[in-house]
Amino acid sequence: VTERLEGKPVVENLTAATTAEIRRHHGLPPPQLVSVHRATTSPFSFYLKQQGRAAEAVGIRFRETSLGAEDDAAALIDRMRQLDADPAIDGVLLEHPLPAPFDFFAAVAALRPEKDVDGVSPGNLGRLVAQRPIQVPAVARAAVAVALHYGVALAGQRVAVVGRSPTVGIPLALLLLARREGGDATVTVAHSKTESLAKSLAEAKVIFSCVGQPGLLNRTTVPRDAWVIDVGLSSVPDASRPSGVRAVGDADAAALEGWAAGLTPVPGGVGPVTVAELMSNTVHGWSLLHAGSR
Ligand code: NAP
Repeated sequence: VTERLEGKPVVENLTAATTAEIRRHHGLPPPQLVSVHRATTSPFSFYLKQQGRAAEAVGIRFRETSLGAEDDAAALIDRMRQLDADPAIDGVLLEHPLPAPFDFFAAVAALRPEKDVDGVSPGNLGRLVAQRPIQVPAVARAAVAVALHYGVALAGQRVAVVGRSPTVGIPLALLLLARREGGDATVTVAHSKTESLAKSLAEAKVIFSCVGQPGLLNRTTVPRDAWVIDVGLSSVPDASRPSGVRAVGDADAAALEGWAAGLTPVPGGVGPVTVAELMSNTVHGWSLLHAGSR
C-alpha cells in the first residue's frame, strides 16, 4: 500500500514549536503579520482564512490589506515601504502571482529580509544561494518538513523537483541541495521544456512536484516505489461541491495507489504545512527584529 503522508502531524509539531518560541520571548509585543492582496475572491479568500486561523492558533496578530483598483505598481511599492518602516509590523506577505503592471519582485524587494516572511525577495533568495538564509520560502520548507517527518531519506539520494519557478521549484531545489539536514540530495530539476519527464524521473527516489497540472504524476512518469511530495495545487470542476470546484494536486492519486511508496494528499498535505511554516517564519523574523530590545 501507498503511505498517506498527511500534513496534520507536521502542522501540530510546528505549531507547538512556534507557540513555545513566542512564549520564550515574553515581554515583547506579540508578532504582527500583514497580508497584502488584490481582492478577497475565491480561492484566495480560503488561503487568507487559513492564514488567519493559523496565526490565531499560535498568538500572532493577523491583518489584511487589499490593493485598490486605482493602485498601480508604484503605489504597491510605496505600500510595501510603509509596512517595512512600521515598527509594529513584523512580517509582510504579498499575494502572487500578481498581474501586470505589478512587479512582484520589485515590491517584495522593498522589505528588509526579516519581514519578508515568505522568503521570496531577491535578497532572501540570494541568501539561500549563498547558504546564509534569513527567511526561506515557506512552501519549500514545508515540502522538506513533510518528507523529514515521514522518514523519507533525502541525503545522498536521487531526488527530483518538477517545476522551476523562482518562488517554489528553485528554492526547493536549493534547499534539497544544501549542506544541511533535509539537504545533501542529488537533485534533478524538470520543467516544461524537459524532453521526457518519465526519463528524467526514472531514477528518482523522491519526487517533489511543483507544477499545477492535475494528473502529471502517474504510473508513466513516476517510477515504482518512489515517494511523491505533491506541492501542486489546482482547482477542478466538481458539481457535487457547493463551490462547484475542488482542489487537486499534480499527482493522480488513484493511479499511484499501490505504486508509489508514499504520497501527500491534496488537500491536507503540503498546503497546511506551508501556512504553519509561514507562522514559524513570522516568529523567526520577529525575534530577529527584536533581538536588541530586551
Ligand atoms: P508556476 O510559476 O506556474 O511554475 C510552474 C512550473 O511548472 C514552471 O517551472 C513550469 O515550467 C513547470 N511546468 C509546467 N508544465 C510542466 C510540465 N508539463 N512538465 C514539467 N514541468 C512543467 O507555479 P508556482 O508558483 O511555482 O507554483 C507551482 C504549483 O505549486 C502551483 O500549482 C501552485 O498553486 C502550487 N503552490 C502550492 C503551495 C502550497 O502550499 N501547497 C504554495 C505555493 C504554490 P517553465 O518554467 O518551463 O514554465
